[in-house]
Amino acid sequence: MPLPERSTWTSLPRSKAEAKRTGARHFYTGRPCKRGHDSIRKMPSGNCVACERDAAYVKRQRYHHAYRKRVTRERRRAEDLRKRFTPPWLSAEDRAAIKAIYAARPKGMVVDHFVPFEHDDELVVGLHVPKNLSYVTAAQNVAKGGKLELTQKQAHELVDAGLAIWRRDVSADFRMVNWEPYRPR
Ligand SMILES: [Zn+2]
Repeated sequence: MPLPERSTWTSLPRSKAEAKRTGARHFYTGRPCKRGHDSIRKMPSGNCVACERDAAYVKRQRYHHAYRKRVTRERRRAEDLRKRFTPPWLSAEDRAAIKAIYAARPKGMVVDHFVPFEHDDELVVGLHVPKNLSYVTAAQNVAKGGKLELTQKQAHELVDAGLAIWRRDVSADFRMVNWEPYRPR
């Protein structure tokens, strides 16, 4: 429902009572609202249209701000985890390979860690190494979530293949990693 054009405001009812009587959707008193808007008012609330628009705007801004903050926090955390679970001895070639994987990401796909850093399996933590990376669609990534159910045997294979490390070598808060057992000799 479009709002009445400004040029027609003076032909609107002058008061709420008049609008009620005539069944009009808006009225125009010609006096500023309590926030100083020169605008029309809505029936049946009598609310200033400009005020309502501001309220919606503020709400949207707030939502937007909170959303951006959350996205930034998540992005930082993901970046932090990628750094933390990059083995310190990873070769320059492997680092370049990781960069290339991200750079060549096909449209609509995301880079997925086959063994994620954080998931509901207690056995292993994935590593940020080329062989743990693959492309999946965003939907596949969401569907996968934090789910990974491994048998002891599968977990051993993933650790042996260098895709993951044992959860027991990572502190509870994921801050400290004991790389010693994995250091190539
Ligand atoms: Zn107002």
